[in-house]
Amino acid sequence: MGVRELGAALVDLVLPADCAGCGAPVAPWCPRCSADLGPPTTPRLPDAPDVLAVGRYTGPLRAALLRYKERGRRDLARPLGVLLAGALDDAVGLGDAAGPGALWLVPAPSRPSAARERGGDHVARLCRAVVAVRPGVRVARPLRLERRVRDSVGLDAGQRTANLAGRVRVRPGALPGPGRVLLVDDVVTTGATLRACRHALAGAGVAVDAAVVLCDATAPTHVS
Ligand SMILES: [Zn+2]
Repeated sequence: MGVRELGAALVDLVLPADCAGCGAPVAPWCPRCSADLGPPTTPRLPDAPDVLAVGRYTGPLRAALLRYKERGRRDLARPLGVLLAGALDDAVGLGDAAGPGALWLVPAPSRPSAARERGGDHVARLCRAVVAVRPGVRVARPLRLERRVRDSVGLDAGQRTANLAGRVRVRPGALPGPGRVLLVDDVVTTGATLRACRHALAGAGVAVDAAVVLCDATAPTHVS
């Protein structure tokens, strides 16, 4: 094996050469998976901000998020950020726009232990990926979770709310400036995180206009 082949093999080891959604040989995310996403969703959640999600938490989008979040595929921040940026364009029309000014993204915070295990805050990284393709957008990171917050997997809506009650902290020095404020998260399930984040920001005098998330994992509503 020559130096060039060895180099290519090492790159393959570091950056998988397949689509994170479907495994097609197009890295890191293929056009077909983008085309198959379907329209954004707008789950209605009581007392939560208006939410716009790139897609349902299923299929290629779910596969790509899990690889990004749990399997260390940081190269997916960019294509997932592009998808979020598209949703952002739609979401700016949601909620009560607060007039002219900057558009601020506030990432929902991860549990400190989870962020450590993942080598950083994966939602904040997604926000930076959005800014890379929407340079006028700004990111503020005033929110953090207390260590006592448990992983929410397996908790029902009431338990998720109780788990977060009073445990989202605000760093006053990191609040967004004047303008519209959008919360950003990877998955919305019951809206407990978005509610808690909005409540914490409201306590610091910051109003949230809407939320943009990658995946909608809310229970399907049955239209009669
Ligand atoms: Zn694909």
